Amino acid sequence: MSMRDHSAKPNLPQKSTAFQGKFQVYSKQHLETLPQLQKLTPDHRLAMRAVAEVLPFRVNNYLVEELIDWDNVPNDPVFQLTFPQPGMLAREDFGLLCGMLKRNAPAAELAAEVKRIRYSLNPHPAGQKSLNVPHENGQPVAGMQHKYRETVLFFPMAGQTCHAYCTYCFRWPQFVGLDDMKFASKEAAGLVEYLKAHKEVTSVLITGGDPMIMRTQLLRQYVEPLLGPGLEHVASIRFGTKAPAYWPYRFTQGEDADDLMRLIGEIRAAGKDAAIMAHFSVLRELQTEVAQAAVKRLVGAGATVRTQAPLIRHVNDNADNWAQMWRKQVSLGAIPYYMFIERDTGARGYFEVPLWRAYMIFTEAYRQVTGLARTVRGPSMSCTPGKVLISGVAEVKGEKAFVLKMLQGRDPAWVNQVFFARYDQRAAWMDQLKPAFGEQEFFFEEGMRQMLESGEARVWLPTEVDALEETWRMESVEPDHEHDRKRDQ
Ligand code: SF4
Repeated sequence: MSMRDHSAKPNLPQKSTAFQGKFQVYSKQHLETLPQLQKLTPDHRLAMRAVAEVLPFRVNNYLVEELIDWDNVPNDPVFQLTFPQPGMLAREDFGLLCGMLKRNAPAAELAAEVKRIRYSLNPHPAGQKSLNVPHENGQPVAGMQHKYRETVLFFPMAGQTCHAYCTYCFRWPQFVGLDDMKFASKEAAGLVEYLKAHKEVTSVLITGGDPMIMRTQLLRQYVEPLLGPGLEHVASIRFGTKAPAYWPYRFTQGEDADDLMRLIGEIRAAGKDAAIMAHFSVLRELQTEVAQAAVKRLVGAGATVRTQAPLIRHVNDNADNWAQMWRKQVSLGAIPYYMFIERDTGARGYFEVPLWRAYMIFTEAYRQVTGLARTVRGPSMSCTPGKVLISGVAEVKGEKAFVLKMLQGRDPAWVNQVFFARYDQRAAWMDQLKPAFGEQEFFFEEGMRQMLESGEARVWLPTEVDALEETWRMESVEPDHEHDRKRDQ
């Protein structure tokens, strides 16, 4: 692995004095006109337009003017992170779309091909639609997902876009209109009712898109009801966001940012943790003064800032980048939290990193940092049964295997269980793994089958969990007289 110095600042254009943090967005129609792209060949721009027909594209002036090193395009990691890349589509589909754009194919013909390609990209991975949406009285609860017992995800209607789109985003279907927005919620009333009835939930994750795209006044309408009576069991309110990387001015500039800091203070005053789950992909995102000021201001206001990102080929698949990011995050008062594996959707063929390599990169980065940054967990797959950690590679009696661990599970009884998969250098996701050591299936598969057949993902009715815990306690502490007798002989 190279020991390149990723802390060196890239060769960036001088910041325009006219640039005052005013948000300006660029999308598909700017791919021919954006001045910075004129140094690419016309064929390259055509290729980008072809990809942007299928997958969402949105960047802003901060990324274009302050983060991308245009002398290093197309290899620049922030360019790879945000601009469409020719390799993101299968070769035949890519060729077909380029040909159609060249001959100005009729809009209906183009739309039909685009739709076909989108559906070939596994738009709904990990049972998000079928298994995670909770039902009360037979009706789905709007704007919510409840996969793990303690945590509810909430999707406010106005927070379903981002300041820019990541090329690898697994939520891409909603940005291209493949998922309608009916699942998102306009108000918090349904969430509050649900939480009052579900005392097992201790954490609400407000997510999107990016909830920080909303003005604080609007965000308040979702947050304040969570601070009221009857919800004392909700100990933390989390915000999943990439705004500290994509638009840090959200936290530093103007009355709206001040109001957000007040809101964080109010969450803390209500006795709850206000957690910013900040998505940072590359070191460069943390090197600007404004990004550092944003993180420090959030921490100063009383928020816990935890950082996470997927490991992505062409973007951040080197250990030094991660080690330097984690160190920088710790120095700013943030807590490194997760390295994820790229999900099995969208342009995964272009971005995916095989599991063995992901494990190597994580390990090499982990070795470079002190215990203060070793709060990070990974590499981890958020797949249908739960969050699966690649914990190691081991050889037992001549068979090489991945050592896996269920960090989080649909069934709480699965959490923290270690299991093994046959070592496979090509595997890049859970469904490509087979059980090791002659096992027919993984320990959770029977349980998953039952959930899929019943359509009921929530298996943690309190009585059942209590019973499980009771069984476990009994098994753990029941004295093993037979064992004792043999030992003492
Ligand atoms: S910020 Fe998050 S939700 Fe938005 S495009 Fe990136 S990965 Fe997707």
